[in-house]
Amino acid sequence: MPDSSPHRVFFPPDPGSVRAISTTIDIPASAFHGSFQKILLIYAGTTVCFPSITCLLLWQQLQDHWVLAWWLLHMLAVVIIVIDWYIRRQQGAAAAPRWQGPVDIMVAGFSGLVWGAGALGMPQIDTASQLLLVAVIAGVIGGSAPALALMPAAGAAFIVNVAWPYAVYFLTQGSVIGYGMAALIVGYVGAMIVANRVLHSIMVRNWRLSSENTALYDRIRKAQDELLDIADSSEAFVFFDHAGRMLLWSRRFPALLGLAESDLKRHGALQPLLERAGLPPDLTTSHDAVADDAGRPVLPMPNGGWARASLRDLPHGDRALFLVDVTEQQQASSQLQSQNTRLEELFREVSSARDAALRASQAKSTFLANMSHELRTPLNAVIGFSDIIRRKLFGSVSPKYDEYIDDVYNSGCHLLGIIDDILDLARIEANQIVVQESRVDLAEEIATSIRLASQQFGPASASITVAVPDDLPALHADARLVRQILINLVGNALKFSPGGLPVEVGARLEPASNEIQLWVRDYGIGIAKQDQARIFDPFEQAGAHLSRNFGGVGLGLSLVRAFVVAHQGRLAIDSEPGKGTLITASFPATRTVNMNDRGEDTSRFAPRRAQ
Ligand code: ADP
Repeated sequence: MPDSSPHRVFFPPDPGSVRAISTTIDIPASAFHGSFQKILLIYAGTTVCFPSITCLLLWQQLQDHWVLAWWLLHMLAVVIIVIDWYIRRQQGAAAAPRWQGPVDIMVAGFSGLVWGAGALGMPQIDTASQLLLVAVIAGVIGGSAPALALMPAAGAAFIVNVAWPYAVYFLTQGSVIGYGMAALIVGYVGAMIVANRVLHSIMVRNWRLSSENTALYDRIRKAQDELLDIADSSEAFVFFDHAGRMLLWSRRFPALLGLAESDLKRHGALQPLLERAGLPPDLTTSHDAVADDAGRPVLPMPNGGWARASLRDLPHGDRALFLVDVTEQQQASSQLQSQNTRLEELFREVSSARDAALRASQAKSTFLANMSHELRTPLNAVIGFSDIIRRKLFGSVSPKYDEYIDDVYNSGCHLLGIIDDILDLARIEANQIVVQESRVDLAEEIATSIRLASQQFGPASASITVAVPDDLPALHADARLVRQILINLVGNALKFSPGGLPVEVGARLEPASNEIQLWVRDYGIGIAKQDQARIFDPFEQAGAHLSRNFGGVGLGLSLVRAFVVAHQGRLAIDSEPGKGTLITASFPATRTVNMNDRGEDTSRFAPRRAQ
């Protein structure tokens, strides 16, 4: 049975499909099996009753062997019919359709002939009994027409065989009444054969119609289930007719409206439902609607979600309301909006922080420049005058002051070095390091640096070995910065080599890469692995106790690295605690001075002659 709920709409079938189905249906062997078995049993039963009653009536008048024989013949027919019924039962419903087959025709024909055999007794009975017999025969023929409607050929065989002996008997009477009776019998037989055939075709047609009906119903049911499956997996929608009665809806529709499926079935009409859900009658316009990213109105739904509504006209005055669930998009869009706002805020914060940092950096640079000027001026005076006194340019002072004045001079120089380092660091941080390109003679720079570093850091006993090949090419670099690099490296090597351990300073050309390398090696305290990276950062030192033991502020190596990088070079460190340290600065091959045969410098940093 079709589901009668409004959700399950039963669509009228397409008349075209009915025709299509009719042509494909064939009556199967099993279709009439049950009915036919029943008919056989009824037939056997009537063949027991009718002939027995007829023979009983005739026996009262005739009491002849013929009546007994006739009755026995009928019983034989019954036995044959029962055997037929039994065989069919054994074969079951799947048996081949034998109801039009020769066996059935023979059985029916034999049974009819047994009835017809009654005509042999006609001459011996009076007219009243003859009429009784003819009436019984007419009844048997009339009853067989519908009973044998399932097998018209067998029916015809039965009817003809019942009737022809009586017709022949009446014909042979040679009287008008006899002829009339014969004609009546023939006419009656014809009418019954036609009736039998008509009934047969009605039965078959009925059967076909009911089969078609079942097939159609199955088809429609399947199509409907498919439609509902699609509907349930699609967006929320409802189809309704001109009176607002809901015809079909997808399961998402009540869910979006915050209603139960049963609410929809109970109401049946759309408007009260929308009212119940607190939605405007025309869903496409509402005060609560907001615009989505594309500017289309989006409605808040009772289930807390958002949907875009659209109404469409359908054929026959029906309409469809679609609700596209846009909750996720709406949430994503508002999330995006709040993220954008936060991003803007952050951007504003960052840019004001950057402005503040720039201002602070500017102030720091100005402060450092001013301070360096302020510090340098008196410091230069202190260094200059203590140097004059130290050198006794204007006569000697008390020997006690000699010692003090050396301290004043050395401390002034040390302080000036620190101030210069801090200034260089400020320049580095402000990206203001400018490399003044020149051709640097490294042997010369190494000698000068060793002298200056020894004055500042070196114990008198330290032995410094220099290894510079005679044919070492010059380096395109900033002489001041190269000297700073060397002074810092040699200074550290001297500082961290207690007890006058040897220090080696050298420069070489890497033949494979054509790079010039500067290196400083000592055999002092060395640097632990974990400290080797961070000591190149400003104010970093290898260990707190070291700074106290050896002094320094932790700027030297950070300046060295910045100066090397300013020359596109790189620094390498190889150190082991207690064994010493080797620091190598490599400059790119482009900075190596290349002289051609004509004595011209062809390297990249060579000064170009005006054309
Ligand atoms: P400073 O020497 O003024 O402290 P540097 O930046 O030149 O600053 O050096 C940073 C630290 O690296 C030093 O404090 C020291 O701990 C370590 N260091 C540098 N050179 C050597 C070296 N040749 N041997 C051992 N330790 C060194």
